[in-house]
Amino acid sequence: MKITEVKVIVTCPGRNYVFVKVMTDVPGLYGVGEGTLSGSEPIVAEAIRHMSHLLIGRDPQRIEDTWQLLYRQGYWRGGPIFMAAIAAIDFALWDIKGKQAGLPVYQLLGGKARDSVMCYSHAFGRDALETEDSARKLIEKGFKVVRCQIGGYGGVGVIGETPPLTPGTPPTSIYEPTPYLLSVPKLFAHLRDKLGPQIELFHDVHEQLTPIEAARLAKDLEPYRLFFLEDPLMPEHRESWPLLRAASTTPLAIGEILTSRWECLPLFMNHWIDFIRIKPLHVGGLTEARKIMTLAEPFNVRSAFHGASDVGPIAQSASVALQSVIPNFGVQEWTRYPEAAHEVVSNICELREGSLYPNEAPGFGMDIDEEKAARYPYKLAFMPHVRRADGSIHVY
Ligand code: MG
Repeated sequence: MKITEVKVIVTCPGRNYVFVKVMTDVPGLYGVGEGTLSGSEPIVAEAIRHMSHLLIGRDPQRIEDTWQLLYRQGYWRGGPIFMAAIAAIDFALWDIKGKQAGLPVYQLLGGKARDSVMCYSHAFGRDALETEDSARKLIEKGFKVVRCQIGGYGGVGVIGETPPLTPGTPPTSIYEPTPYLLSVPKLFAHLRDKLGPQIELFHDVHEQLTPIEAARLAKDLEPYRLFFLEDPLMPEHRESWPLLRAASTTPLAIGEILTSRWECLPLFMNHWIDFIRIKPLHVGGLTEARKIMTLAEPFNVRSAFHGASDVGPIAQSASVALQSVIPNFGVQEWTRYPEAAHEVVSNICELREGSLYPNEAPGFGMDIDEEKAARYPYKLAFMPHVRRADGSIHVY
């Protein structure tokens, strides 16, 4: 069997996605994949087109060998652009193998260790009462784990925004840490009082704090028994993890912007975290994410895979397949996809009672409608950024 073509499909059915179809010389047999990287979609698309020159004529059944070739071919390797591009190809090769075998991808990985993948969703409001109300609605829908925020990232530390400089660029948030650090413990005191001790609650810092601020917040939140504190620090603050870890018994989760096993390994080996937030999409696909989760297993680190809406539906189904089979599963982030995304991608994983279920059809059981994708062309979009009240970029 040979790869004959790699089609790269950049589309915006409500938000931008980078999809691929890896075509083979077997009539009707192709694999679907995804390499979405928010704010950098055209760059990943170009990286995939560049890599595709190495793939034409190769045997798509050789997944590990192809991964090693794509990872090592550049000499300057790794990083989010390349790892998202490799993931897109890797997903498509697993999809081809599943279609060839007539089995869903989770069966190729060893079969289910659990019936479904428990998810969390996002509760938010302008104050603690609104956030409580939002959390209650999610609990009624069956969610057993709920992320709780006041406002956007930075909560009441966000004191305004400045308009975009040019069309397609986001507004800039104006953020101050002190009101934020004061408000978050009050939010969780309120939620524990109103929602009781059983429901699993947690908070996402989104890496906006300095190490000593993060340590204080983890300590202040300790009485409220969080499921975990998400992204309390940027991964670059590696030397500060012992300080944060020693400050409290609040469980810690990071990793949504990590892209390799070498970044994850010190976090595991030093027992600095409890949950790892990678997902196959940004670490080079299923092949690599499986290895990272195996590295995490002896250190009791569980998965809490990143699943913001920019982790598109094909990447999500890879996350669901992997978390169906690994022993060290924790939780999966869930956000709703735009309606139009369901027109472009078929059989998006089903959510029932706060859990996702893998498709039972061969491969990922999904397809990309190229005609419909073309009706939603790419729209220029960047990630928002944050400034302090004095106008300087928020450096944390
Ligand atoms: Mg986060």
